[in-house]
Amino acid sequence: MARNNLAVVIGASLAGLLAATALRQAYRKVIVLDRDALPVVPRARREVPQAHHPNILPSRGIGALDTLMPGFAGEMVAAGGLPVDKQNDLRWYLDGRRLASSLVPSGVDGIAISRPLLEHLVRRRAATGNVSIMDRLTAVSLITDGDVVTGVVTAPADTGETRAEPGSIDGADLVVDATGFGSRAPAWLRAIGIQDIEVERVDIDQTHVSRRFRRRQHFLGGQLGGVYAPHPGHPFGGVVTAEERDVVNVSLNGSLGAVPGSGAADMEKRAIDLPDQGAHEILRQAHPVGDAHVLKVPYSVRRYYERLPGFPAGFAVLGDALCTFNPIYGQGITVAALEAVLLRNLAAAGTQGQFQRRAASLVDVPWRWSADLDRAMCGGDGPGVTTYDGLVTRLSAATDPAAARAFLRVVNLLDHPDRLDDRGIAARAHPEKVSSLAF
Ligand SMILES: Cc1cc2nc3c(=O)[nH]c(=O)nc-3n(C[C@H](O)[C@H](O)[C@H](O)COP(=O)(O)OP(=O)(O)OC[C@H]3O[C@@H](n4cnc5c(N)ncnc54)[C@H](O)[C@@H]3O)c2cc1C
Repeated sequence: MARNNLAVVIGASLAGLLAATALRQAYRKVIVLDRDALPVVPRARREVPQAHHPNILPSRGIGALDTLMPGFAGEMVAAGGLPVDKQNDLRWYLDGRRLASSLVPSGVDGIAISRPLLEHLVRRRAATGNVSIMDRLTAVSLITDGDVVTGVVTAPADTGETRAEPGSIDGADLVVDATGFGSRAPAWLRAIGIQDIEVERVDIDQTHVSRRFRRRQHFLGGQLGGVYAPHPGHPFGGVVTAEERDVVNVSLNGSLGAVPGSGAADMEKRAIDLPDQGAHEILRQAHPVGDAHVLKVPYSVRRYYERLPGFPAGFAVLGDALCTFNPIYGQGITVAALEAVLLRNLAAAGTQGQFQRRAASLVDVPWRWSADLDRAMCGGDGPGVTTYDGLVTRLSAATDPAAARAFLRVVNLLDHPDRLDDRGIAARAHPEKVSSLAF
């Protein structure tokens, strides 16, 4: 059995790079492999198509990134990221109503940065010392020694065939799957005799259309972005966010089969229906910086590896491979960063075998929040399903800055959603309804 003090991470996107950073102290050597060609400058790449779209960082995620890579928040700003007060520098619409901003700083802080720059900075931090990154290399299956995973069979990404030039990285003490939404881990485990895992899937049939423009100061009344959430009966929404180098990314989304068009005229027409004209003004006036990009997201999915009898030692699954959230809630990067912090702490104590079980509790709250809202979007109800009416009632934060801040703390994963059940918040927001709420 391998005891070489070697960790192998499959996938060099955010979850994989953060996992490698987390493991660098506990292992003598960390190898990260990715089937994509990794750019040396900040650039969107083929296997991470979400890089064309806004990737908003919740406040808790920034904290987790800074925990893993001290000083990283400052590095993002030095590279051009823009500090934002989530309540006052962005406009948020829920149920078509705008959340109240506040005269004082909310303390719910963020950094507006493009996904390619974020990934570039994380990769630059990761690719030092005992961490080596190999690109254009596909993992095709796991290598085991008895019931322990010790490595991966690889193939050059250009051929994609094991038969062409099989290779392997063996002798690892830990193999981490961070290959995202399309993770083959269920099939890899089946191939070594481990039964199908339990999966929870929510069909969202979503389409995102995004395009970057040159930003002018007067756009959005001087604010740095906007979130226009879809809601029952209104499947179209949008996200607008400033990025480094005076760029603004305008993204329109449609859920449950609703498809925003990607031509300039289609985007303008769709943006008119958003609850304010901020996005429409940009689409009409601004100079585009590149083409519009379309991305379909068919479903969100949680994979319950922790419930799998016989889950092998020496193996871990994290990031989108473990749980792919509906992107409109912006949770994926933060959860991946929190999982990496967990992995770091467990590896330092030599208890990494507990990872899958402990990671499941990190995923629980954000998954319930997003999956329940998605089911409510489809008119679903039942045990464990937050009724959208109840949620919006509780949040009628449109008029109350304190209630808006409470909501934003939950969305930014700083507080548990139960905080929204606080009677004080609800009473201020909607005094006539508070007695009928099931607290
Ligand atoms: C439209 C959209 C918008 C989003 N917006 C936000 C947002 O606002 N905020 C937020 O937090 N999150 C957002 N997300 C989610 C976020 O992008 C992911 O959670 C984040 O990228 C972490 O993903 P990951 O690293 O697990 O997987 P991915 O980013 O999907 O990366 C997987 C990596 O694995 C590699 N790979 C795959 N298979 C193999 C293999 N067999 N061998 C070798 N390498 C392999 C790929 O090349 C890729 O580099 C959004 C997602 C989408 C689709």
